[in-house]
Amino acid sequence: MMARSNILNLSEFMQGLIKRNPGEKEFHQAVEEVAASVIPFINERPQYIENQILERMTEPNRTIIFRVCWEDDRGNIRINRGYRVQFNNAIGPYKGGLRFHPSVNLSILKFLGFEQTFKNSLTTLPMGSGKGGSDFNPKGKSEREIMRFCQAFMTELSKYIGEHLDIPAGDIGVGVREISFMFGQYKRLKNEFTGTLTGKALEFGGSLIRKEATGYGCAYFTEEMLGHQGDSIEGKTCLVSGSGNVAQFTAQKLIHLGGKVITLSDSSGFIHDPDGLNNEKLEYIIDLKTNRRGRISEFAEKFKCKFYKDKKPWSVKGDLAFPCATQNEIELSDAKQLIKNGCKALSEGANMPTTHDAIDALNKAKIIFAPGKAANAGGVSVSGLEMTQNSIRLAWQREELEQRLKNIMHDIHQQCINYGTEKDHIDYVKGANLAGFVKVAKAMLAYGVI
Ligand code: NDP
Repeated sequence: MMARSNILNLSEFMQGLIKRNPGEKEFHQAVEEVAASVIPFINERPQYIENQILERMTEPNRTIIFRVCWEDDRGNIRINRGYRVQFNNAIGPYKGGLRFHPSVNLSILKFLGFEQTFKNSLTTLPMGSGKGGSDFNPKGKSEREIMRFCQAFMTELSKYIGEHLDIPAGDIGVGVREISFMFGQYKRLKNEFTGTLTGKALEFGGSLIRKEATGYGCAYFTEEMLGHQGDSIEGKTCLVSGSGNVAQFTAQKLIHLGGKVITLSDSSGFIHDPDGLNNEKLEYIIDLKTNRRGRISEFAEKFKCKFYKDKKPWSVKGDLAFPCATQNEIELSDAKQLIKNGCKALSEGANMPTTHDAIDALNKAKIIFAPGKAANAGGVSVSGLEMTQNSIRLAWQREELEQRLKNIMHDIHQQCINYGTEKDHIDYVKGANLAGFVKVAKAMLAYGVI
């Protein structure tokens, strides 16, 4: 006999989760967004309630926390905290990025790992979910300091990952340079050459299109959403935040598709370029942020446009908004500005950049809203394709990979339509949450009680 009520209540469920995970506010926020869509769905399907699938899905399979000791250029010993949250491996090995940023803590990594469960499920590829990283701040560190940190971090992490077990990738503060240092160390420690990290350089198993994939995918997803309404990106004014990996390639694909990108930002403020970015300006940004690690204000000086210190770009008038920097960067007041200025759609390039109350306001105003777990799934999708190429020891051409990425974004959009169609609009949050949930839940049910 099952000893459980067959109705789940959102606020009771959240109270239990908060009690079990005190102080983890980002994790609570991510779970609440999913639970609000999933609970009404599972209340009509008792097998999910009886088997406590949502309770199990909100508890990571394993959380690893470790000390990372390294030496800086002046010979000082430095100590950081390293993490890997192996969230769910029901449909494939753990897969998700590593973030190096001073704000990293367990709550942020659990929210990211939890979101990754649904995102990876939506990609149609066999990938479970995980996330990791460190409170290490790469800003202002020398190349050798970054190398020593990455090697020390991997010395411990290598015990818990593997090509069939857990395959990390990049995220904020972790690009191809950091992945290369970590991959080199992993290879040295394990004495083998396997595709245990993705986002590698092309010379040693990396995939074409990987660095572009999250941003390109975000633009393709937006084109799908607008196309569903008989509209397109062509001729639209676009507000992009961030100027890192996701922002750069979201902007590039938006420009390819005929959009006009007029803002970018970093943690010090935003630039407004009313003429719009072009290839020359974008190349400058990519070099500035990826190679020279400079500040976005340098763009404003070079191209004679305005820089707004410590401000976000959401007060600028635009048709489409693409938050591509970090979590909770669009709050209610920002959403109100976007609505007032006639914004038509918002696509999350970053993970959870929009707060709950901001999403509610956008929904009420009938602004098309794409959650990150759908809109930014292109990155992990091409990481999945990198794993496949590593396994078969082949490298696919750019055209083939870009076509596969496009197809995946189309399929994700279709799944959102299948599960999120309401009377007068598509609820992409509900669609992505339910489609992502069902696949993982079916696998967990099939395994029995584990
Ligand atoms: P990068 O490190 O390449 O760039 C991050 C950008 O965001 C930088 O412009 C950075 O500014 C800005 N930023 C970071 N933290 C803050 C903050 N607290 N306030 C304001 N601006 C901030 O990271 P990515 O582009 O890889 O990641 C961006 C987002 O996209 C994250 O949410 C990540 O989880 C998500 N994502 C990334 C994927 C990927 O493939 N890389 C895949 C899916 C999602 P500054 O230069 O000043 O630090």
